[in-house]
Amino acid sequence: MDQTQIDALRAQPIAPFFHLIDGKHVPASDGGTMNIISPIDGTVITTTAAGTAADMEAAIASARAAFEDGRWANQPPAARKKVMMKWADLIEANALELAVLGVRDNGTEIGMAIKAEPSSAAATIRYYAEALDKIYGEIAPTSSDILGMIHKEPVGVVGAIIPWNFPLMIGAWKLGPALAMGNSVVLKPSETASLSLMRMAELALEAGLPEGVLNAVTGEGRIVGETMGLSMDVDVLVFTGSGATGRRLLEYAARSNMKRVYLELGGKSPNIVFADAPNLDEAANVSAGGIFRNSGQVCVAGSRLLVEASIHDEFVAAVAKAAEGMRVGDPLKVDTHIGAINSEGQLTANLGFVKTATAEGGKIVTGGDRILQDTGGYYMAPTVVTGVSRDATLAQKEVFGPVLAVTPFETEEEAIALANSTVYGLAGAAWTSNLGRAHRMVRGVRSGVMHINTYGGADGTVPLSGFGQSGNGSDKSLHAIEKYVNLKTAWIKL
Ligand code: NAD
Repeated sequence: MDQTQIDALRAQPIAPFFHLIDGKHVPASDGGTMNIISPIDGTVITTTAAGTAADMEAAIASARAAFEDGRWANQPPAARKKVMMKWADLIEANALELAVLGVRDNGTEIGMAIKAEPSSAAATIRYYAEALDKIYGEIAPTSSDILGMIHKEPVGVVGAIIPWNFPLMIGAWKLGPALAMGNSVVLKPSETASLSLMRMAELALEAGLPEGVLNAVTGEGRIVGETMGLSMDVDVLVFTGSGATGRRLLEYAARSNMKRVYLELGGKSPNIVFADAPNLDEAANVSAGGIFRNSGQVCVAGSRLLVEASIHDEFVAAVAKAAEGMRVGDPLKVDTHIGAINSEGQLTANLGFVKTATAEGGKIVTGGDRILQDTGGYYMAPTVVTGVSRDATLAQKEVFGPVLAVTPFETEEEAIALANSTVYGLAGAAWTSNLGRAHRMVRGVRSGVMHINTYGGADGTVPLSGFGQSGNGSDKSLHAIEKYVNLKTAWIKL
């Protein structure tokens, strides 16, 4: 990464963004716009269209028409693959531009953004492009006078609602398999991180995706998101975001056409460190990264540190030292380790969690405060809180910020019980040299991902699935495709 190039991109003004409907850039039907505030310094950097219900309905109608006439679904797989491969190439060719635009909008440190956003999104689109002509139907083992065939058909119109923390990566997790299988999509980016995702959607059209197959509408969740959720013409809703919104989407589906709803929600993931971890210094550094990168705004963040009591004090000191060594600041500086909090509201909520934690008996070992306020941006020091009891708010509720809750344990059984003591089940880790114990932790902890002797970094070859109130269905890997196809049986008497 070249700082000069990044600085040049940052200096460029950002033209107002519009919806992408039926292949055209269109303003909101009532002309409304939303100011986009950069968390880097609190300034308004551009505007997006403030979508109306009518805008969302137009986008859904466009996606429906595109699906019904088969302009995408009926193309030979090789042709669809070519478009998607070109799209991935364009994302890569524009990677720095996309990453800087995204960081100006959402505040993620550029080092992480470049890898986790355009690079990961391009890899995801390419993965599903490569897969799409290798997915076969099935022939059932019927009696000899019958041919039982199972076709995999696209579902129709997919509504995809995306959060602000990694818009390109998470957007690609939905768009890749949905488009590969021949569906049309309506995309709804987050209010506070829409710019890079809107640009990535444009690149799909530049790559040759027919008009109407991918539409994107910006605006408030409770307006355009609700219209999408209640639509009779959306067949599948795929969502990443908070549990509160996930619940609403289930209600919308029940109140409308009972559309399929797939939710990737939050977590309170346990990072369990045993005294027999292979390398405690490495465990401390990786654990700090596992909660503090992107200011803890990571769904799989290891936000609960469960430490064997015999090493509690020394290990907490090592994590605190690692946290204090992480440079918080301007996310567009290449040597920044931790960028900005996405919005002022999120920063206030994070600080509220810290206050509650201390009121409930927790002790702040490091951090706890807003910092760099003179920049006008939203920054928080990485925060470690010890003495967090199993039922404390900080042990139970997702903060989605740079706040680590530490709880000691004595035995393996107690560690598993603590790990499973929340409503969530997204991710977790155990650090141990004992092979049997490692496997017992994988089996015992109820979560979609269990890391051993590392934290984070699981690539696109493996699924991300939530247990409990962390969601349903899977993003990533070939398993994600199941969400975007209908199985149709042909039962043929010979
Ligand atoms: P959010 O639920 O507030 O918003 C997510 C999206 O939903 C946004 O696009 C928003 O506009 C839309 N939305 C809001 N209200 C809506 C409504 N009434 N109807 C339809 N859409 C609506 O979540 P967020 O704050 O953007 O993201 C943070 C959350 O996302 C955290 O809880 C985090 O854990 C979770 N997350 C989960 C994963 C995962 O893969 N499991 C990944 C990243 C983030």
